[in-house]
Amino acid sequence: MSESTAPSDRHADTTVLKFGGTSVADAEALQRVAGLVRRAQRSTRPIVVVSALAGVTDALLAAADAAASGDAERMRPQLDALLERHAEIAGRLARPEGAKGIRTVLGRARGEIAVLLERVAGEPARRPALRDEIASYGERLAAALLTAVLLAADVPARYVDARHCLITDEAYGRATPMPSDTEQRTRAELAPLLDRRLVPVLGGYIGATRRGVTTTLGRGGSDYSAALVGAALAAAEIQIWTDVSGVLTADPRVVPGARTIPTLSYAEAAELAYFGAKVLHPKTLQPAMDRDIPVRICNSHAPADPGTVVTARGDMRAGTVKAIAHKSGITVLQISSTRMLGAYGFLRGLFEVFERHQTVVDVVTTSEVSVSLTVEDAVSLPAIVAELRPLGTVAVESGRAIVCVVGEGLRTTPGIAARVFATISDINVSLISQGASRVNLTFVVDEDRAQEAVLRLHEALFERERVDLDEATAAGELTP
Ligand code: ADP
Ligand code: ASP
Ligand code: MG
Repeated sequence: MSESTAPSDRHADTTVLKFGGTSVADAEALQRVAGLVRRAQRSTRPIVVVSALAGVTDALLAAADAAASGDAERMRPQLDALLERHAEIAGRLARPEGAKGIRTVLGRARGEIAVLLERVAGEPARRPALRDEIASYGERLAAALLTAVLLAADVPARYVDARHCLITDEAYGRATPMPSDTEQRTRAELAPLLDRRLVPVLGGYIGATRRGVTTTLGRGGSDYSAALVGAALAAAEIQIWTDVSGVLTADPRVVPGARTIPTLSYAEAAELAYFGAKVLHPKTLQPAMDRDIPVRICNSHAPADPGTVVTARGDMRAGTVKAIAHKSGITVLQISSTRMLGAYGFLRGLFEVFERHQTVVDVVTTSEVSVSLTVEDAVSLPAIVAELRPLGTVAVESGRAIVCVVGEGLRTTPGIAARVFATISDINVSLISQGASRVNLTFVVDEDRAQEAVLRLHEALFERERVDLDEATAAGELTP
């Protein structure tokens, strides 16, 4: 626990339960969630953070984009059907007064969204803020619906407007929370409810500026919200309930045989999340780490499955590679200049260009006369390249992917890099970096070959090892 947290401020019996979009996709899923919250209530004081129902955020943002391009009606039917789903589910699972309440909330939301879509068309300068306001309805409606469903399941739930808790800067679409405001406001909103044994239910992903203008934390940001809320209350645990049984050894959409990793350190989980494991938003680990709060990733469709627990220590067994992550849609920039030789200030000037354009650099490697780096957000690339040109020759390669092999064992085990590159020796590899945390080995490949690289690495690092292990067990070699 953080030393700055006085014991009286602690809510050691509080657990944050975050449910993702697929965990609240339909009535059956919501009913399972209600069961999980009820069960949690027996041993802890739960706080529930919920994402928009599956597909709703996409539809809201698509409607905003359609409105911006002058075709507000294009997305209307899909959006209306998704909004209507809230009322249908409430009709099945909520008490009659709860279902009526959801109908009222929904009616109001439809009207407000229609007005906002009109403003998107008419006020181009306000579009980023209006887009966040429109997107926020997904989480706000999901939280209202889940509150009604929980009340019907005899859980004393209370809807909380997350925008009163998460206070952020004004970077619409990717807002950064202000730590002390957020902590103070979250405690002020939630602690009195917890003290009365009520179960707060709030939408993830959304916040507001100090002036009360709605913001969002970036796609997939509900995990981050859950961690911020957990840290603000110094909770005992942050649980991320999703549609897979924990963090797996690789993206299951690419490697069907990927397996659950029982334990991870914060550093390992952060690297995996950062380099493409969508199961956790990359910023989720920091608030948990600051307060030393375990993060558990569980499957809401299979609650009995063990899942993954992320803690400071993880599992330090040497020799263990834990997982492989990958991220496509990467652009590599290579800046070459002999002016780098023996000069100071060159790198600072170079990175200031990225800072000015608020573009995050993921992987960096340098030689005497060149710097190679990767960016994911290519929006400002033309301007960045123009500003880099005076510094040297700039080469741009798009269509790349980052592959990242992660494990605390990389710190101590020799030979893993050789094994990795031998496995994919026929695939062109660039920008090799053993991250500063030394728990990851990261490199860049052509996007078209990324999936093949991940599959082959998984086979070599996990499946073959398992066969060896099974054989050893059968031969009695591992019997104590
Ligand atoms: P939620 O809606 O619950 O937030 P997400 O779709 O954001 O769920 O994240 C869960 C998904 O992340 C999984 O269904 C899986 O396809 C994907 N994923 C990618 N890499 C991994 C990984 N290493 N382990 C688990 N899931 C992963
Ligand atoms: N609903 C938001 C999204 O789709 C946030 C989240 O799911 O975490 O990005
Ligand atoms: Mg997610």
